[in-house]
Amino acid sequence: MVEHCHILLVSFPGQGHINPAIQFAKCTLQMGAKVTFSTSLSAIRRMSEAASKIPGLTLAPFSDGYDDGWTSAHDVQDFMLSLRTCGSEAVTNLVMAQEKEGQKFTHIVYSTLITWAGEVANQLQIPSTLLWNQPATVLYVYYLYFNKNVDFTGENNEVIEFPGLPLLLKSCDFPSFMQSSSPVIYNFALPVFKEHFEILDRAGTKQKILVNTFDALEFEAIRAINKYDLMGIGPLIPSAFLDGKDPLDTSFGGDLIQKTVDYMDWLNSKDELSVIYVALGSFSSLSKQQMEEIAKGLIESQKPFLWVTREANTLSFIKEFEKQGMIVPWCSQLEVLSHPSVGCFLTHSGWNSCIESLVSGVPVVAFPQWADQPTNAKLLQDFWKTGMRLAAADGGIVMADEVARCLEIVMGGGERGENMRKQAKKWKILAKDAVKEGGSSNVNLKGFMDQIVGSNQSFSS
Ligand code: UDP
Repeated sequence: MVEHCHILLVSFPGQGHINPAIQFAKCTLQMGAKVTFSTSLSAIRRMSEAASKIPGLTLAPFSDGYDDGWTSAHDVQDFMLSLRTCGSEAVTNLVMAQEKEGQKFTHIVYSTLITWAGEVANQLQIPSTLLWNQPATVLYVYYLYFNKNVDFTGENNEVIEFPGLPLLLKSCDFPSFMQSSSPVIYNFALPVFKEHFEILDRAGTKQKILVNTFDALEFEAIRAINKYDLMGIGPLIPSAFLDGKDPLDTSFGGDLIQKTVDYMDWLNSKDELSVIYVALGSFSSLSKQQMEEIAKGLIESQKPFLWVTREANTLSFIKEFEKQGMIVPWCSQLEVLSHPSVGCFLTHSGWNSCIESLVSGVPVVAFPQWADQPTNAKLLQDFWKTGMRLAAADGGIVMADEVARCLEIVMGGGERGENMRKQAKKWKILAKDAVKEGGSSNVNLKGFMDQIVGSNQSFSS
């Protein structure tokens, strides 16, 4: 009985983690489960009221030691340590308190980077499942990296084959943490990804991993690791933008930044497929020089653009620039991507943005910065064929000409652009198919729920 299922869902306090986690919560709530969503106090405070209005969802914030929020001025390694220490204690206390009240959690689901929640679950002997919020391909690449079945030394950008994966990668396509150019401040990352596998192995054999992807998108990668049972349950996207089953589900409900500027009238005033939507990540920030090159590239394109950035003040020619486009500090990305005037997405290729571009049928120009983004950009360009990746000049900066060149190819009337738009439309249909009744993600999610309820959580340690 799903009603007896009480899931504790623990998410990393970043936008790219909170969004799919909340969407997962909504899906399982609709199936009758009880769900408690836990993340840092600072994130919950910043989240829109929408989260507290999700019917049935209980919020359980914990202090991660950074109650006024983490900023790039803080040391990321200190933050990760504090999050782990405070989070482990808080989740342990929450589990014990619920048990005392006879409301015990029957399953813990934890997001990428929240390894410690899996560890707490193992210690308290509560079954747990990782909710992986990157492509299955990236999980597979990490798996191979730590198991050393593949030679990852392709420093000179030679092509590397991955068993079972119909895609060749060069070192520049690897997750940034594997690349020798990865800054030392991110040295914490690879041990965390390694720990994910260790915790799964300690939890028992053939652990399930829920992935925000779908069968048609990553058929081979989902099946590439025999040791685990990967289940594509995505796209984890509000229903109104996907299957339309719940037309009132028009936002994730977990925005950490609030929309303050209205852009809909502006979008409505533009021709079909004429607008470039630019959003380069909720976390990373670009150098002044890089911002200027992107801005010049947009001007060169002569197309209207909607750019999400909170760093527009670094641009030296902002007045002239604003004649052609609109700059906003935040938007509802899905609302924008599904608007008929949007013809291209200039994206940092964070995984949610990638999957949202596919769901909306919008081709992309990819400008990956770090983490899984280089691999995601490679997949978009060479596997799903819905866009192209910007090439950096010597010195690592992507120049204005390159931005304008790629925008022209993706949005122009040539055969390449035409093919990308066709591919984007194809993935839009397949994404919807995956979540409809009987679709692969729908079946997988039901199967997962049946299993966690049916077995009444027999725990193998
Ligand atoms: N997003 C949004 N409005 C914005 C910018 C981003 O709603 O103005 C959302 C976007 O739809 C996505 C998430 O924020 O769901 C960003 O996740 P992603 O994995 O793309 O990138 P991250 O910011 O985590 O690097």
